Amino acid sequence: MTDLEAAAALIEQADGIAISCHQGPDGDALGSALGFGLAAKAAGKTVTVSFSEPFVVPDNLRFLPLDLLVEPDEFPEEPGLMVVFDTGDRARLGSLVSNSKAAKHLVVIDHHVTNEGFGDVNVIDGDAGASALLTHRLLELLGWPLTREIATCLHVGLVTDTGRFQYSNTTPELLESAAAMIEAGAEPAVVGQEIYESVPFGYLSVVAAVTGRAVLEPEHDFVWSLLISDDLEKAGIEPSAVPGMIDYIRIAREAETACLVKDLGGPVEVSLRSRNHVDVGAIASSAGGGGHARAAGFTYPGSAEAAVALVRDALADG
Ligand code: 5GP
Ligand code: MN
Repeated sequence: MTDLEAAAALIEQADGIAISCHQGPDGDALGSALGFGLAAKAAGKTVTVSFSEPFVVPDNLRFLPLDLLVEPDEFPEEPGLMVVFDTGDRARLGSLVSNSKAAKHLVVIDHHVTNEGFGDVNVIDGDAGASALLTHRLLELLGWPLTREIATCLHVGLVTDTGRFQYSNTTPELLESAAAMIEAGAEPAVVGQEIYESVPFGYLSVVAAVTGRAVLEPEHDFVWSLLISDDLEKAGIEPSAVPGMIDYIRIAREAETACLVKDLGGPVEVSLRSRNHVDVGAIASSAGGGGHARAAGFTYPGSAEAAVALVRDALADG
């Protein structure tokens, strides 16, 4: 039996399914969780979907069908079956770690190469460009049909984790999956506009602040910048309204590696990207985070400057 078949067997047997994804969810995490949740509900299961505090859906994902979402404290404490999506390690479940430990059965569906498998059944495929692709495979195996809403959720995962079908993880199979989503009613123009072209005006000044303080370190092929609370306060916008800042930093062609540190009051959050050869997943893992070879991240208990220094040192040693 393959891992996917083992996951499908547990899912088929369950009456209720508690579904989660990593904290601070992105399009792939939330899209996969909600898409699977909607399909499970249509198959007659009792479904709850949640993710850890801060329980805030990013602005650009609020157009998704969110009806299944409940606050994390309403999530089953001892689920019979818990299925988690796009979560590279257990700690990324935040306050739902304890629920995952108390779950009778835990299924992990993920595409992070750094995922060591913390479930009873682990469907982990580092070659899959998005967890949404694995979710699609799972729905096909279960024989659960796509609806327009499910397809929209999964399409969001496919689009966002491939950078709009641009990164090296864009495979023929992934494009076939996207084709199936569009066939089932996902609208690329709606998804594209909601995700990428629908920011509050204040976002523009945050881009200016973040790009304005970017630093290029040619000796390390490295470009980095900071996003600070003051940027958001001046712009009058919430952290949930500023995804994607790393994408403005990574485009500097002089740099192989790009880093954005978000210093917004809590522990600093570090995003890493590389162009061709630096394994940022390995750097993030060594700092207690994880991700992929070309996109990774970690949370750091020290200052933003110390987090940048950690990355610089790893590049210098690399
Ligand atoms: P982003 O920079 O977009 O937040 O994340 C890039 C990639 O790194 C994503 O695949 C994300 O799941 C992963 N990642 C980001 N932060 C962390 C972290 O703190 N821990 C782990 N394990 N992975 C992370
Ligand atoms: Mn993903």
